Parts: sequence; C-alpha cells; structure tokens
Amino acid sequence: MMKRENSEALYKEALEHIVGGVNSPSRSFKAVGGGAPVFMKRARGAHFWDEDDNRYIDYLAAYGPIITGHAHPHITKAISEAAANGVLYGTSTALEIKLAKMLKEAIPSLDKVRFVNSGTEAVMTTIRVARAYTGRNKIIKFAGCYHGHSDLVLVAAGSGPSTLGIPDSAGITTNIASEVITVPFNDLDALRQALERWSDDVAAVMVEPIVGNFGMVMPQPGYLEGLCSMARANGSLVIYDEVITAFRFHYGSAQTYAGLDNHDAIQPDLTALGKIMGGGLPIGAYGGSKQIMEQVAPLGPAYQAGTMAGNPASISSGIACLEVLQGEGVYEEMERLAVRLTDGIQSSADRYGVPLTINRIRGAFSTHFCNHPITNYAQAQDTDGEAFASFFRHMLDRGVHLAPSKYEAWFLTTAHTDEDVDATLEAADDSFRAMSQGK
Ligand code: PMP
Repeated sequence: MMKRENSEALYKEALEHIVGGVNSPSRSFKAVGGGAPVFMKRARGAHFWDEDDNRYIDYLAAYGPIITGHAHPHITKAISEAAANGVLYGTSTALEIKLAKMLKEAIPSLDKVRFVNSGTEAVMTTIRVARAYTGRNKIIKFAGCYHGHSDLVLVAAGSGPSTLGIPDSAGITTNIASEVITVPFNDLDALRQALERWSDDVAAVMVEPIVGNFGMVMPQPGYLEGLCSMARANGSLVIYDEVITAFRFHYGSAQTYAGLDNHDAIQPDLTALGKIMGGGLPIGAYGGSKQIMEQVAPLGPAYQAGTMAGNPASISSGIACLEVLQGEGVYEEMERLAVRLTDGIQSSADRYGVPLTINRIRGAFSTHFCNHPITNYAQAQDTDGEAFASFFRHMLDRGVHLAPSKYEAWFLTTAHTDEDVDATLEAADDSFRAMSQGK
C-alpha cells in the first residue's frame, strides 16, 4: 500500500481553509470512496510527484490542457519570457493577434475571435451573443454535456456535478432554469420535438460536437448534420463547445476532424474554446462569423470584458503549445500509445471477467464499467461506479493517476512513452486481478 501521509495531513489542513479542501469539486475523491485527494508537488513530462514523493503516471493531463506533458521546455521558455516582460498590461499586444490568427487557421468557422480567461467564460458569452443576435431567449443543450459553471448551463450538466450526484446546482433561479431545454445526445427525434415545441424561442442549440464529459462519445453518423440543419431551419444558432475537443484529436477541432464526414454541413455559428489553446495557463476564447461576432462590444450591444483577458503569459503559453502540436506525427504517436493502452486494458478486463466498455478517439479514451455501448448520458450513468472507484484506487496505489470520476477520460500527452504504457498495463492487469478476487 502506497503511503500518502503528507497528502492526508495537508488535506486535513486544507479542509480548515478551503471549502471541501479543493478548488474545484472534480478534484475531490468523494465519488471514489472519499478521503484525501493526492497533493502534488511537482510534475515533468507524463509524471507527477506527490508530497510523499510517490511518482504517478498522469492520465489527467489537468483535465485536458496539458497535452504536451508537464513543464514542456518550449512552453516553459515562452512563459518565462512573458513573465520577464511583465505579465499583464491592460493594453493590446501583438501576441494576441498571433494566437488569434493561429486559431483562425486551424478552425475555419472562426472569422473573429475574442480571448477570455476560461472555458466557462467562453461558453457563457457565446450564449449571450446568440441571444443578442437572434433576439430569442432559450437554449437547447444535451444531457450530460458540461459547459462550465455559469448558471444557464449547469442544468443537467455532466461530469462534474453528476460525479457528485448534483443533478442541477442550487442557487439557480427557476426563471433561468426555464430558459434551458435539455434533450438526449445522439437523438435527432428528441431535438426535433424540442425545436417544434419551443420554435422561435430558441436562440441556440449548444453541443459538445464530440462529447468529452460523459466519456469520449462520437456523434452518430449524420447526427451533427441533422442538428445543424434543424437548428438553422428554426432560425437558431449552433454553438459548439470545443473546450475539450479543439486540438485534442488533430491540429484543428471537431469541425475539421477526419473522423467526421461532411465538414461543410457541420460548421457551427459560434465556437467556445479553452484548455489546450492556453498550454496550461488560464484561457478561453470564443468566435464565429464576422456578422455574429460584431454583436460584441465595442462594436455591438452585447457586453463582454476581462481584466486578465489576452494576458501575455497565457497567450504566449498558448502559442508555444500550438507550435509543439504542429510537430510532425505528434497526434499519430499519442494515438499509437492509446491503442496499445486500450487493447491491453480491455484484454486484462476480459481475462478477469470485469465488464468494461472503452470508447477511444485518437489519444483520448474513457473506461466504463458496463457491458453496453456508451452513446448517450443515460448509458454512461448506468455503469458501475463502485467498480470504477475500486479500479481507480488500485491504479492510484500502483502509481497511475486517473480522474476520480467514472465519466472522465484518460488523456495521452506527447510526453507519454511505451515505458509508461507498459507500466500502466501491468498496473491495470494487477488491478483487475485484485478486483476479481474481491479486493
Ligand atoms: N466546456 C467543456 C466541454 C468543458 O469540458 C469544460 C471544463 N471541463 C468547460 C467548458 C469549462 O471550462 P473551464 O473549466 O476552463 O471554465
């Protein structure tokens, strides 16, 4: 059994000062049996070390942003240089233009962008802009998709809240909740019915085009085409939340991903971005066509601002991260390692009779303890949370750190190696064996 006495002591102390001992509820171990989460002290590449000097292979990648591994020298250098030049000016910089151009080149539906500080802010603003543009109020979203913690999108909101068994957050007025309509993902009939029912009240249909918040879930063939054409026929905008998906599967986003056909038919009106595009520093961005984005102040009537927005440190880190991702073969290599992992994990689970469904999309995958496919949120809910918790604990004690939630994905980074995969597969085999013995 791995000793984590220092983490336990720090957790006790944290509980005295920080609500729940954590600065984001997803870091709590509540859903995996409770107790002290691991307190990390440093990280490099695909590994981090805790306050008791235990080493872990990291598949969290900080919930997505750390796609190049920790402390990547190119990104560290960019951040250091930015820090030495002053981290915040409250003025415009040339760097902002550079990152905006990089985003536009990679994601063609972006004609104009605006930088913000988080995915939450990006999503929240796309909704305001869609309402300003259409003059309508309601938003249709999909059960289990998480779009950050702004009021409107916390209704039926996927990984974070559902991990903790909070279906809808307290503190959200009934008026706000009445402006959101939730339908199941991958079900065009349900969307059609909602659009018919609420017709010209619907400002936008907001979706994770490839879902990352109840596992890694692809839209079924024709689903996004249908979603876009129905929304448009209704005069509603399509908003893609690509906070997880942009730059995750290839140098681009779901809108241009080769695993989805018919790119022309699946272009959104507005896109929300975050995570990877900041290389690990706080960032978000949103964008879309010139006409729609010109709703935003100072050009238009929709207000959105930010003291820290576009700060040189985050922007420099984002540029450096995208430069690393432009390297030859980086996505292919992450995929190669993910295939090795998923093949090995599945065969160990099968060997020990542990029901397991894996959804893999290039270098990201989710492990669901069940025998059925995962194509929507209800199926992801209907999985064995106790088996996941047991697997999570066994893996942690063997030096592999997963997200403490049955809904979250494993993320490969450019820093993982075959050696990490070998060690992870050995840990997984051991873990499934222990689970089959009732340990
Ligand atoms: N949208 C999606 C799809 C996300 O996964 C997340 C975060 N997990 C967010 C929005 C919110 O981003 P942030 O935590 O940066 O506010």
